[in-house]
Amino acid sequence: MKHVLVLGAGQLARMMSLAGAPLNINISAFDVRSENIVHPLTLEILGSGLQQAIAQADVITAEFEHIPHDILAVCEASGKFLPSTDAIKAGGDRRIEKALLDNAGVKNAKYAVIETRTDFELAIERVGLPMVLKSALGGYDGKGQWRLKDLDDVEAIWSEMEQCIADSDSQAIVAEEFVPFQREVSLVGARNRNGDIAIYPLAENVHTNGVLTLSTAIDEPVLQAQAAQMFTAVAESLDYVGVLALEFFDVAGQLLVNEIAPRVHNSGHWTQQGADTCQFENHLRAVCDMPLGSTHAVRATSMVNILGEDSVPDEVHALAGCHVHWYGKEKRAGRKMGHINVCAENTAALKQRLLQLADLLDDDAFPALKPAAQAL
Ligand code: ATP
Ligand code: MG
Repeated sequence: MKHVLVLGAGQLARMMSLAGAPLNINISAFDVRSENIVHPLTLEILGSGLQQAIAQADVITAEFEHIPHDILAVCEASGKFLPSTDAIKAGGDRRIEKALLDNAGVKNAKYAVIETRTDFELAIERVGLPMVLKSALGGYDGKGQWRLKDLDDVEAIWSEMEQCIADSDSQAIVAEEFVPFQREVSLVGARNRNGDIAIYPLAENVHTNGVLTLSTAIDEPVLQAQAAQMFTAVAESLDYVGVLALEFFDVAGQLLVNEIAPRVHNSGHWTQQGADTCQFENHLRAVCDMPLGSTHAVRATSMVNILGEDSVPDEVHALAGCHVHWYGKEKRAGRKMGHINVCAENTAALKQRLLQLADLLDDDAFPALKPAAQAL
């Protein structure tokens, strides 16, 4: 039996726990907000505090990148933390992330860092309009972002950004050129302690109001090779161990990295039913010093996020190839409550199944599903 302590007690720790059980890998989770060690499935508080949990763990890892640096430091000092805290910090701070991409020679959107009003003026000159402005720290699901299309909006946006910068220590804004992409894709892969790399097929992602709503695994060898090369450059530059995700903009067949996530990723949930080994198992294999599992796609698969709903009609469970994964969370508007993996023999059959699913679900709750399925 191996014991893995996960920083963060959300759905990603929960799914790691489910994937670890067959391998005799036991997961406990550190809830960063309450600072309790909890069971990742029941959220029951376990007796130990952080120090004791660190001492008992064989390996420590993380399910998200926004972890207080003092906690990262304690975990790193134990010598058990993977991936490195540098990788976690790069995922949690857009300034470090951008520098990392540049140093690894990986294409990304033109950018400038803003701390003062003068920086903002310089950024407008250097990056040009339209631009996307993102808080350097703490952003997720499109939160902490502004779009500047017109110079008339500079004052209004600056007053909000100024407040954001003042609100937390060492906060800044990263200004990015608006990328006129045709679509968004992401790559999830794993690297183990030997430096072996296993990469999943790319997923094509649909976002609705800045939140991922649908991911579909795609088979496009030319794009895959380009993405894999960037993945390898980033993973090797960090001496990364674990699952790593890269989000890309596809601009006429040229990929630009949007951001990296030093963890298992929402756009990799399809691997639970669609790949030989799921991303959660491969993350655990990597950090536990095991050989990586095959990332081969075994059938056509999409993942549909369930946002703000805590039930689906019974008929969904009766659809062949549909698998519902709930996260056991309290219902809240827009919250990621679960996902549905939808599998079929081939893309044409997948399209039909997604359309069948869309007919069973409420259009308001799943606005992206029908149009995306029709476009497959
Ligand atoms: P998450 O962590 O959920 O992936 P996030 O809050 O970190 O989201 P980003 O991925 O940076 O934010 O941005 C959210 C979405 O906004 C992107 O998926 C993309 O659709 C759009 N977006 C972000 N940056 C740009 C850009 N430079 N040009 C055009 N669109 C952008
Ligand atoms: Mg993103």
